[in-house]
Amino acid sequence: MSDPIARMNVLVDELLRHNRLYHEQNAPEISDLEYDRLFRELEALEAQLPLLVRADSPTRKVGSAPVSELQPFVHAVPMLSLQNGYHKAEPAWGGPWEDLLEWERGKPDRLGGLRRVLGADAPEAIAYVVEPKLDGLAMELVYQDGAFVAGGTRGDGTVGEDVSHNLRTIQNLPKRLTGAPAGRITVRGEVLFDLAGFERMNAEREARGEKRFENPRNSAAGTMRQLDPRLAKDRPLQFFAHSAGEHPEPPARHSELLEQFRAWGFTVSPLVRRCEGIDAAIEAVKVIEAQRADLPYEIDGAVVKVDEVALQEALGFVTRSPRWALAFKYLPAQVRTRLNSVLFSVGRTGQVTPVAQLEPARVGGVTVRNASLHNEHQMRRVLGLRVGDTVTIQRAGDVIPEVVGAVDEPGREDRPFIEYPNECPDCGHPLVRSLADESKPDMVQIRCPNSFGCPAQVEGALRHFASRLAMDIEGLGEKLVEQLVAADLAKRPSDLYRLAEKKAQLVALERMGETSAQNLLDAIEVSKGRPLERGLMALGVPMVGESTAKELARAFRGMDAIVAADVAALDAVPNIALTTATAIRGFFEDEGNRAEIAALQAAGVRFVPPAAPAAGTLAGKTFVLTGTLPTMGREEMKAKLEAAGGKVSGSVSKKTDYVVAGAEAGSKLDKAVELGVPVMDEAAALALIAGEA
Ligand SMILES: [Zn+2]
Repeated sequence: MSDPIARMNVLVDELLRHNRLYHEQNAPEISDLEYDRLFRELEALEAQLPLLVRADSPTRKVGSAPVSELQPFVHAVPMLSLQNGYHKAEPAWGGPWEDLLEWERGKPDRLGGLRRVLGADAPEAIAYVVEPKLDGLAMELVYQDGAFVAGGTRGDGTVGEDVSHNLRTIQNLPKRLTGAPAGRITVRGEVLFDLAGFERMNAEREARGEKRFENPRNSAAGTMRQLDPRLAKDRPLQFFAHSAGEHPEPPARHSELLEQFRAWGFTVSPLVRRCEGIDAAIEAVKVIEAQRADLPYEIDGAVVKVDEVALQEALGFVTRSPRWALAFKYLPAQVRTRLNSVLFSVGRTGQVTPVAQLEPARVGGVTVRNASLHNEHQMRRVLGLRVGDTVTIQRAGDVIPEVVGAVDEPGREDRPFIEYPNECPDCGHPLVRSLADESKPDMVQIRCPNSFGCPAQVEGALRHFASRLAMDIEGLGEKLVEQLVAADLAKRPSDLYRLAEKKAQLVALERMGETSAQNLLDAIEVSKGRPLERGLMALGVPMVGESTAKELARAFRGMDAIVAADVAALDAVPNIALTTATAIRGFFEDEGNRAEIAALQAAGVRFVPPAAPAAGTLAGKTFVLTGTLPTMGREEMKAKLEAAGGKVSGSVSKKTDYVVAGAEAGSKLDKAVELGVPVMDEAAALALIAGEA
């Protein structure tokens, strides 16, 4: 693309979308490698055009904000992500380990250039610690005087979700530390499934008629987000410690910190090695890779860190990552198996996607039965698949397994190619082909247009509408949705609110009865009062996840205003990009969607707008909290500020109105001073809330 500004915008929007898919929906569409490629392309463009870097650019923050009803968990020291290096299949000069050599000896660009940054201070052999890169869920644990008090996910690096209740159920997570110093210590690491336990759990689920979990990392994330800790208790999760956030007496070496962790009672990977010099570190990286397939848990690379803390401090940071650490990714695990057939699956929006049905095969410790073929172009033109092909599949991290190619073998050319059906596999309606983007003729979208008559779409839309993050209709699960659709009791969400009139038919459903029917009707009644933002999620407005829904609700304060808003008004909402605004507008311009919203409102769904802030309070003011407040936790202060109409943000920017700082305030305070943002203490903040200042 010739226009770098337009390209930057496209990249920001794409990366934000993939962030949402990864962090909020646990449904990534692209591999880590591909994500990283887009990310680096954006970084390069931004380096050329620093004045045009968008405020919402993903290069400026890590991951995305919390999504569930769990409480926010603030990281006193931000949890940063590591820069990545890759095993090079086609190295330019240094062999597969080129990125590691480059990191130590190269130019001081994104990959570090440790020696050149240290200059004359560089020791003859830099000591490194090499650790397996565990493919789990990043977590921070807080210990006060040796006792476990709380823990939370990484989230956007500054604020994650408090999952203390689930962490307490993890058996190898020490609830009391042996011999740790007094004060506050935060320990970071990964929560993950032991693979044998994961398979055992899947076998038990199948025996109970439940669906298998496909992927250990996603299942670990899903488990940690459960509100009820009894679920986590039954699942074989483990915690591995790898670094510290706050530490009252930090050791001089990373390797000593890991020794401390072991002494305190944490599990630290036994594969960790301290190495003198980068060549020894590369050997250790190879040793870990050689053991990869036999490990009891999943890894996708090795992390190499500079051991001496003094050197780490001298090396500092490259934008958002420490220069002194590199996550080196191995090539994705691949295996060959047979393609038995292709299933064409119809999604909630009618999009038809091909899914390879495979002879079950173990890849990287997990049994894979189906794999993504992405779209027609990939299946037909790129892979040219035929039924019975021997195919190579790969699993990289937590991305859905994919077919990377077919093996050339005799007789193959006699078999016909697999073609897309002309009719919807679910309802028989002719499928429609369209080009989402004129500039990409490869990306044909194939949809079933029969939105309200196609069972797959109707069921998908109803399931989505009733789901926990949407209208949260208790008891309306997959099976019941299927029954309602089959009995012609519901075709679209508004039909749910008319079920009371058809109670006799409802009671007559298999496994239903009077009591269950009444419980369902009660749950549907309760859902009429759900907040506006959940209504937006429930309708399945494209590109609207939880955070965008909240922004819309806050900005427009009513469903009718959102339905009427034009692209310019939508684009003016904070954190909503033009592409998102256009997609939202397209949804609300659709007559069918408008009619459905009107029907929901007529049936009594209120789409309750957020409470308007009371007059004379902190409406429109943004606060950032940092440090330890004298009489209350930051959560309590946050609640008070929000109750008064204020907004609490995780990071200081020019848009911040006030920073509330307590003892041991860190970089946020420095940033506030640098930007000239007013700083106040707890007492002043309370006075402001009370309207006295
Ligand atoms: Zn259909």
